[in-house]
Amino acid sequence: MPQETQTEKYERMCFTKVKYPTKEQADVAARNSTRTYRETYSTYQCPFCHTWHIGHTPKKDRYVEDRKHEAYLSEMRQRKKRREMERRLKPKKGEKKRDNSGR
Ligand SMILES: [Zn+2]
Repeated sequence: MPQETQTEKYERMCFTKVKYPTKEQADVAARNSTRTYRETYSTYQCPFCHTWHIGHTPKKDRYVEDRKHEAYLSEMRQRKKRREMERRLKPKKGEKKRDNSGR
């Protein structure tokens, strides 16, 4: 694998990251992200811009867990969508019946 250039390092470690002026703020964000994405996030002081960023190091089993969680979430979303579509289709049938019997 080719060596990472300084620009690539900057892009990965700084450019794409949210900047936090203090470690405390970064810590809070890292804790929230850990809860949301079920991965372990940690804070580090940036060697480029000297603010604080959060980064994560996904472990193998954590990654699998996360994929399962994601699959579960997308299935729930699809189920919800299907239920909403069914709900939207049902009243139309009822209206048609009412129209036929009324006139
Ligand atoms: Zn930075």
